[in-house]
Amino acid sequence: MAKRPLLVGNWKMHGDGGDLAVIVAIGEAARRHPAVDVALCVPATLIDRARGVSGGLAIGGQDCHAEPNGAHTGDISASMLREAGASLVLLGHSERRHDHHEDDALIVAKLRAARAAGLEVVLCVGETAEDHAAGRSAQVVREQLTRSLAGMDGQGIAIAYEPVWAIGGDRTPDPAEVAAMAGLIRDTVSGIRALYGGSVTPDNGAALFEEGGVDGFLVGRQSLDAEAFTAILELM
Ligand code: PGA
Repeated sequence: MAKRPLLVGNWKMHGDGGDLAVIVAIGEAARRHPAVDVALCVPATLIDRARGVSGGLAIGGQDCHAEPNGAHTGDISASMLREAGASLVLLGHSERRHDHHEDDALIVAKLRAARAAGLEVVLCVGETAEDHAAGRSAQVVREQLTRSLAGMDGQGIAIAYEPVWAIGGDRTPDPAEVAAMAGLIRDTVSGIRALYGGSVTPDNGAALFEEGGVDGFLVGRQSLDAEAFTAILELM
């Protein structure tokens, strides 16, 4: 049976109180498309206000600490995200892996913390340009999946294939490559939703969704624009 599609926006370090109208508009679009699960991962400072205006649209965080509380200046725990109004969290995004040197062992610990706090998780995996050029994409993704899930079941987890080289630019993999990776993800973890992320736009979304055979998308830049994000939603 086909899974319910899932569209997740990732605002990264963008957005403040002046952007609540965008969240309102995305919430309205989500209500017009009840067959798709829609979520928006905003900066932690916006979670509470986003929940207030989202009209039921799921709001998520972009990272959490592996511990519930403690002496960790600047960090936020999964239960804090939950209490602020988040129902999901992104983990293992390549910007976290790269900028904050997060490894798979840390990501497993965060994943357990998120599940213990009752958050759903969108786990990001993907190879670098160098690995892609060397034909190692499948191997890298399989290793990341095995290490960052460490035998856990896929309950409450969606996995986003996000090739590092496709994020934040204008290149995307061929839909056939996306389809192969979605297959690998589903073979490695049963029962999960396999998403694609990296430069998804209203123009390339239909081919990536249909020929790529994914259950949805993780969208960065185009989620900052309610019209573009809605156009992607309408393709699903
Ligand atoms: P992008 O970002 O859509 O702007 O490429 C995707 C992501 O990093 O999740």
